[in-house]
Amino acid sequence: MQFPMARRRSLRFHLGVSFVGVLVLTLLVVGSGLYFMVGRYLVRAGVQRLRYLAVVGLHRPDNDVGADPDAEVDARLEDLDRDASVLAARIGTRLVPVCIVSEDGTVLGASRSVRHGPALDMRRLRQARAAWRIQAARKSRWGRRVLGPGVFYFDIVRGRRWQVLILPVHRGPQLLAFLQLSQRWREQDELLATLRFYLIGAGILAIAFGLLASFTLARGIAAPLEHLAATARRVASGDLGARARLGPGDDEVSSVAEAFDHMVERVQASFQAQRRFVADASHELKTPLTAIAGTAEVLALGAADDAPEKRARALATIGREVDKMSALVGDLLLLSRAEQGDEAPIDVRPIDVHALVEEAAAYAQVAGRAHRFQLDNPPGLWTRGDASQLSRVLRNLLDNAFKYTPAGGSVELRSRAEDGQIVLEVADNGGGIDPTDLPYVFDRFYRADRSRSRRTGGSGLGLAIVRAIVERHGGRVAVQSSVGQGSCFCVFLPGVG
Ligand code: ADP
Repeated sequence: MQFPMARRRSLRFHLGVSFVGVLVLTLLVVGSGLYFMVGRYLVRAGVQRLRYLAVVGLHRPDNDVGADPDAEVDARLEDLDRDASVLAARIGTRLVPVCIVSEDGTVLGASRSVRHGPALDMRRLRQARAAWRIQAARKSRWGRRVLGPGVFYFDIVRGRRWQVLILPVHRGPQLLAFLQLSQRWREQDELLATLRFYLIGAGILAIAFGLLASFTLARGIAAPLEHLAATARRVASGDLGARARLGPGDDEVSSVAEAFDHMVERVQASFQAQRRFVADASHELKTPLTAIAGTAEVLALGAADDAPEKRARALATIGREVDKMSALVGDLLLLSRAEQGDEAPIDVRPIDVHALVEEAAAYAQVAGRAHRFQLDNPPGLWTRGDASQLSRVLRNLLDNAFKYTPAGGSVELRSRAEDGQIVLEVADNGGGIDPTDLPYVFDRFYRADRSRSRRTGGSGLGLAIVRAIVERHGGRVAVQSSVGQGSCFCVFLPGVG
């Protein structure tokens, strides 16, 4: 199976591009917002300053300490036509040229510095006049204010930027003249240029670091995923031993890798079990088949034609081997049904454990005639499940106890309740099981002592069937054994009531 390569590259690419994209957008919004706000503040502060100069120049008393400022203003405005230059000089400074013009644009007076500053812009003057008229039309009450709403703009004189403010001078609704004040826009331009420089520099730096960080991050995410994909490819091509092994980590990729490894582990185990099972099953079937084929060949060759006894023995051998095979096939069928889980639901009914054990004991009396059999079976214990399957469990355990305990030995069947569970025990004082075999005795086809077990006719499926049935009933099996002293198999089933 091929994994799409382009996708892997695009994950890295997409991560990097979206990260940097978001960064650039944020920087653009924040940077331009800041730049715009600072610029707006500087313009407003400039206008305020010019207006302030105009107000101060108009109201500042000449010499009389304690003179009435309003009267001073009145006097100044009275002489505005004649004294405009004096007033312009009072308001203006070397750096702030002031010019007083009439409504139609005739210059009434100007401060000395006015020749450095911007000339009168008639279009702006008309604009100021229109603004004044709108305001004058709206106003019904006139206070003592003499400066109306201004118009400001920027002008360039010999390559230098100036901020210009045109203010109407009025007395009540009567427009007297216009004041034009200008100031160089040098520091402000410098400040804005510095701000621009830092914003652009910081932006470039942030984008460079962002690019680096995003690609490192994207690589950090993509690399383990690529490793995971490569491992998946190896597994798909048959290498079930391949593992991602990304190591412990609490991120999502690590947990995906961990889950993946766990899954492959399970798949590998089940593949191996399946392979082992097929090999074991064929081996188990091959032995009786070989015996049958050999015996049948002897009969076919006519070797026993004139010896009825020999013939009867051969037929008996064939019959025995066929019985073994059909028992094995029956066991395999039972095991596969028991292991099917939910696919083949069991017939769940309340089971009187006393009756179940009593039936098994009756079987034991016949099957274990050569042994001493003891029974401890109190009444009143109940479980739920399929009675025929559970009696198969007890019969398998009793069969084993009799098989692996020498004649004359004792076998005990006990039932009891413990912590809400039903415990069924089959104990013997036979040869016991070696501790190295103990963990595997419930595996399919496992025989602790192969030669002896085969001699006694065991297929190695008895305990696997026991475990499968008990687990399907929601219970578990356990074994305790010591070599030379005997074994005890315990079945734990959920109790009822
Ligand atoms: P088998 O058909 O060989 O008896 P089982 O699955 O029933 O297969 O048992 C697996 C192996 O466990 C047996 O081969 C035997 O070696 C060991 N075993 C089972 N029960 C006993 C027991 N009561 N005492 C000693 N060994 C036992």
